[in-house]
Amino acid sequence: MKIALVGIGKIAVDQHVPAIAAAPDWDLAATVSRQGTVDGVPAFTDLDEMLQNCPDIRVVSLCLPPVPRFVAAQTAIRAGRHVMLEKPPGATLSECHALETLARAQRVSLFATWHSREAAGVAGAKAWLADKTLRRLTVTWKEDVRRWHPGQDWIWQPGGLGVFDPGINALSIVTEILPDPIHVTNAVLQVPENCQTPIAASVGFYHPQGAEITAELDFLQQGEQIWTIEAETDQGKLMLSAGGARLTIDGKETLEDTGFSLTGEYPRLYARMAQVVGDGDIDMDLSPMRHVADAFTLGRRVSVAPFIE
Ligand code: NAP
Repeated sequence: MKIALVGIGKIAVDQHVPAIAAAPDWDLAATVSRQGTVDGVPAFTDLDEMLQNCPDIRVVSLCLPPVPRFVAAQTAIRAGRHVMLEKPPGATLSECHALETLARAQRVSLFATWHSREAAGVAGAKAWLADKTLRRLTVTWKEDVRRWHPGQDWIWQPGGLGVFDPGINALSIVTEILPDPIHVTNAVLQVPENCQTPIAASVGFYHPQGAEITAELDFLQQGEQIWTIEAETDQGKLMLSAGGARLTIDGKETLEDTGFSLTGEYPRLYARMAQVVGDGDIDMDLSPMRHVADAFTLGRRVSVAPFIE
């Protein structure tokens, strides 16, 4: 299938382009970006123009930041194209619901991707937790924003999510592996005085069986970068580390250690998109985003030192 990539920035170049190039299902037939291009691929700067000029491209993958995503997705769906959305699938939950309604009316497929759910250890963690009683779950997601998001001013603007931009990846894993629904009960959001979004956050959750669930997110981590989820149950302990790429159960590695890498995640997302389109499906799980929205609604804001990149 021919596919167009929209928003040629860091994630498009690092992950989407190589994943599409390696996939048997996909042919990267156009890009849409004001500045970014991909060697050898027809480049447009305007989405409408691409849609009008390329009627044979039936699928559009959006790698924009969250705020411009809604208009682009709406435009592509109205033009009868199937749409794949980078995470988060929109700037607000209402936008995402509107896109889903529109996709159903237009009879096109829509896939809200959560790349961290495709990390190597996630399926094993979900299977192991399925028959255990959870006592405690701790998310620790601490990375250096200067290293991973250089020059991305949109992260600090309304809708940019701040530290929840990576934090929502952890929540996408938690909502995938836990058999029971949880919800936010409290949050503290540290917001730099020159920014609109948090640079660190602590979040607490309600769990129906009373397990203690917390998340600690930090965007100023120096040295070792930490993306772990630890679960204590009635039958032992589980740890997902390296963003979900490593799974340890009671201290024993269950997978070959490949370190932190998104490399395996994106080929699986594109394989899933081929399936979603083939089946005429809509895959739009908004639960990670709901938790972020609730943390922003309920969270106590603390003003902290300005962030200067
Ligand atoms: P990015 O490097 O800033 O790239 C996004 C691209 O979108 C820009 O290069 C820009 O290209 C285009 N764009 C269109 N409208 C824009 C606007 N109003 N503001 C800024 N850029 C605009 O961002 P990214 O890291 O690739 O992230 C994009 C999405 O992927 C985000 O939702 C993010 O959460 C997700 N993601 C990122 C990573 C990561 O490691 N970076 C990992 C997984 C997922 P033109 O100027 O050429 O139009």
